[in-house]
Amino acid sequence: MKRIDLTRGLISVALVALFVVQLLVHPESVLAWGNEGHTYINRVAAQKIPADMPRFLRRAWVVAEIAYLGPEPDRWRSPSEYELKNAQEADHFIDLERVDWLDPLPAGRYEFYRRLYEKRASTADHADDYLPEHVGLQPYITMEVFGRLKAAFREYRRLRELHQPTVSVEHAIVFYAGWLGHYVGDGSQPLHTTIQYNGWVGPNPNSYTTQHGIHALFESTYVAQNVTAADFSNLVRAPERLTDPFQQYVAYLRDSNRHVETVYALEKAGGFSGKGSAEALAFTTHRLGAGSQMLLNLWYTAWLDSASNPNPIPAPPAAAQQTPGTKNHAGEAPKL
Ligand SMILES: [Zn+2]
Repeated sequence: MKRIDLTRGLISVALVALFVVQLLVHPESVLAWGNEGHTYINRVAAQKIPADMPRFLRRAWVVAEIAYLGPEPDRWRSPSEYELKNAQEADHFIDLERVDWLDPLPAGRYEFYRRLYEKRASTADHADDYLPEHVGLQPYITMEVFGRLKAAFREYRRLRELHQPTVSVEHAIVFYAGWLGHYVGDGSQPLHTTIQYNGWVGPNPNSYTTQHGIHALFESTYVAQNVTAADFSNLVRAPERLTDPFQQYVAYLRDSNRHVETVYALEKAGGFSGKGSAEALAFTTHRLGAGSQMLLNLWYTAWLDSASNPNPIPAPPAAAQQTPGTKNHAGEAPKL
């Protein structure tokens, strides 16, 4: 028995050590914007939903629910749900410097995987840097949740046309809209778009900090103590329809990446310490505002685009030409 206890003890110590190493090494182990930043980004966007989107989206409970869902995917990162944590950690970031040879990014995640594995196979040094889970999958999960939202809006339109109840699809829309906000918010945090995610690596002529900690100091500690939703609400304008959501979202990530060095320069000047500096506040509120604006634009685009796309759900059973013996049940999307 003692031997088993000792083995268990050693395994426990090893697991704790592994978790600590993960926290230090992997970008996916740090939370973007912390609880407050994500909640603010979602709430401000929800408060700006325009009158030409469905009216139910402007109800108080909807705004509160969307705000609550801002940090939701960060609640999926506990070691107690290992499969979930493992599967979705790479959704929160993308190291754009690792894919500067791949422009434009392919729109489908499996095409992206294939290109990365080809690159890895032809790379001699640090080839595993090109594994999809190390590069990050930010724009892919974002567009996939955007697609879910658009499909739900399409169903909402269909039920309205049929004068059927819409309460169930309204709940689905609220969930997808709030879930989407998390990743769009991550994308506005420059340190979620870079290999410089938590301490400067490589040539460092400006002597930026190489310590782990800048990431959480900026997005969590500093924001929680110094920023409110009201500080950037006035920066968010009426939404714009995106003509190419994927590529425009990638452009938004690249713009965020251009601000990486500013985060380090502000940290070096003490801008995020204590009450911080006026420059740090202006910078942070503009990043949070950029996140809210893109989120509102994506919701608006999903709504408008949902009107012009074919509905993939087959006609109801009574009207369907169901051939006896086929396995394509009514309500099941056909395999094309
Ligand atoms: Zn995140």
